[in-house]
Amino acid sequence: MSIDINNIPAGNESRDDSAISARTDNVSFAETALRLGGKTAEEARRTGVVDTADDQVEEMFAERRRTTASPIHRAVWENRVPVEEFHFDVPALGSDERKVINDCLHVARSHLRGGTLYGEDGKLSDDVLGQLADAGYWGTLVDKRYGGCGLPFSHFAPFLTRMATIEPTIAGLASVHGCIGAVDPVRTFGTAAQKERYLPLLASGRRLSAFALTEPGAGSDLTALKTTAVLDGDSYVVNGEKLFITNAVPGRTIGLVCRIDDRPAVLIVDLPEQEDETFRMNQYGLYALRRAHNNGLIFKDFRVPAENLLTPEIGDGLTIAYHGLNLGRIALCANAAGTMRSMLASMLPWAGFRKTHPHAKTVGAVIQNTRHRSQHIGTVLQQSRPLFQV
Ligand SMILES: Cc1cc2nc3c(=O)[nH]c(=O)nc-3n(C[C@H](O)[C@H](O)[C@H](O)COP(=O)(O)OP(=O)(O)OC[C@H]3O[C@@H](n4cnc5c(N)ncnc54)[C@H](O)[C@@H]3O)c2cc1C
Repeated sequence: MSIDINNIPAGNESRDDSAISARTDNVSFAETALRLGGKTAEEARRTGVVDTADDQVEEMFAERRRTTASPIHRAVWENRVPVEEFHFDVPALGSDERKVINDCLHVARSHLRGGTLYGEDGKLSDDVLGQLADAGYWGTLVDKRYGGCGLPFSHFAPFLTRMATIEPTIAGLASVHGCIGAVDPVRTFGTAAQKERYLPLLASGRRLSAFALTEPGAGSDLTALKTTAVLDGDSYVVNGEKLFITNAVPGRTIGLVCRIDDRPAVLIVDLPEQEDETFRMNQYGLYALRRAHNNGLIFKDFRVPAENLLTPEIGDGLTIAYHGLNLGRIALCANAAGTMRSMLASMLPWAGFRKTHPHAKTVGAVIQNTRHRSQHIGTVLQQSRPLFQV
């Protein structure tokens, strides 16, 4: 749909359909729709900024890979389900890639069996993270020329499903590091020099990474970002606070979303090995991934080399953020599918064993009910596969 933003009534005034004519390129669909729906110009603008970042990511893909060409989009808008499009030609795996996958699963499985997955703090131990590094886990999405194994995403996602059946936090960290952390921003938006410098470190696990976007006043509303980076000589001086950052501890590398000259930007930041007067952590005991660290980060006149700025050809820092978040969304589904398989596997024996009701008829009903639920979960799992095998 194309819309002329200049003719849209403000506030709750009645809508004039003649206003829907020519699209103005720099106004997103969401902003226009919200204004038509009666939201204030400021509310519409803020949501529009985020929607625009999504659109800019879309522009980076070939026509056939855009959201509008996806089977789900077509099912909704063409009023038919293009079943044939749910079948993908998945490239065959080479022996190197198979070895990385099997070695990584073996590391996780053997620590699970040995009861040695977690350290005293309840988090995945450094030993586990190190052995996964040796097996090539942190380089699965990094190209071979930078020391990774260059796994196509169509294999990465089902691999995470398998890993999640063993330990969901390990699967989650592959996504944090590879999709939203520093790997995707550098491999997609980095210069040749930035790739040479960072990708080998990230692939080998010598630097594990995280993604620092959210702030105390900027979660859903990313236009409210307050962290700034100001160029001073050959470095940026960063001031601000980040909140809820998964996998962020001293010594890691983060993709830091901040404002530079009042535009969102992404700096690749090596966190110091220890807190100091320029960098502190805020700990609060809240975890999306219970077995991984999650902290707030506070920067005060913290210096980052100017060469660590990522400069996308299209858009700005939010475009970089949304590119990674899109991969992260799929990886999250893959992880959830694995976790559900584990739940189903532990539920079935229990459902067959447990008898709570004295009357046979009721027991029958309970078993029947349990069977239905199990079948339902099995069906959901099966149906969810095309959602992340892209
Ligand atoms: C455990 C955990 C791990 C996380 N890991 C990371 C990470 O690694 N990196 C990172 O950058 N961030 C991370 N996040 C942050 C996460 O992305 C934010 O929590 C999320 O964006 C929501 O922001 P918020 O918490 O500020 O909620 P708010 O923006 O304050 O929203 C609160 C509620 O209000 C609703 N709401 C907000 N605006 C509107 C509106 N205009 N209309 C209607 N409803 C609205 C929201 O839907 C929500 O229900 C993590 C969060 C958690 C809890």
